[in-house]
Amino acid sequence: MNDSDRKTQGMFDDDMFRGFFGDGLNHFIEAHNNCHIHLKVAYDELKNGCSKVVFYSRKKLCQSCAGTGDANKEPPSQCPACSGSGTNTKTKTGFLGWTKTTTEACSYCFGVGSIAKTPCFTCKGYRIIEVSERQVISIPASPMTHVAHTFTYPGLGNYINDDTNGDLTVKVVT
Ligand SMILES: [Zn+2]
Ligand SMILES: [Zn+2]
Repeated sequence: MNDSDRKTQGMFDDDMFRGFFGDGLNHFIEAHNNCHIHLKVAYDELKNGCSKVVFYSRKKLCQSCAGTGDANKEPPSQCPACSGSGTNTKTKTGFLGWTKTTTEACSYCFGVGSIAKTPCFTCKGYRIIEVSERQVISIPASPMTHVAHTFTYPGLGNYINDDTNGDLTVKVVT
C-alpha cells in the first residue's frame, strides 16, 4: 500500500488506531504498575558497581488475609443486597400510577456481586495494600558516569495479578 492509498481509507485505519490508543494505553498501564525511585549513588560506586538497600512504597497482595479480603481467609459470600448480580433495579411509582425502572450498580458491594464475610482489618477487604518495601538491588558497573542511568528491576513493582508484578525503575543520580 502506498501513501495515497492510505489517505483514501480515511483518518482512522487500524494501524492508526493502534498507534494512537493501543500503545498509549499499554504505556499507561505499565507506568501505573511500575514503581519509580531516584537513588543517590557515589561516583565510584556507580563506576565500579555496587549493591544498595532501597525503600519505596509498593502495592502488594495483603498478607493478613492471603489476598482473600476476608479476615478468616474464607471465600466471599454472595451480596445479600443484589443477590450476586452486582446491580439493583429500582422501580419508582409516580402519583398518577406511572412506574419508572432504573438499573444501577449495587451500592452495598460496589457492583462486585460478593462481599467478604468478615472484611480483613488490614486491607479493609480490598485485597491489595500499599506497603513500605525494602529491597537490596545491585547497580551494575557503569563506566560512563557522566550520563543519566536508569535501571529496571523486573517484578519488583506493584501487584498486577498472581503471576505478574510491575517493575521497579531506579534513576541513579551521582
Ligand atoms: Zn451487591
Ligand atoms: Zn487483607
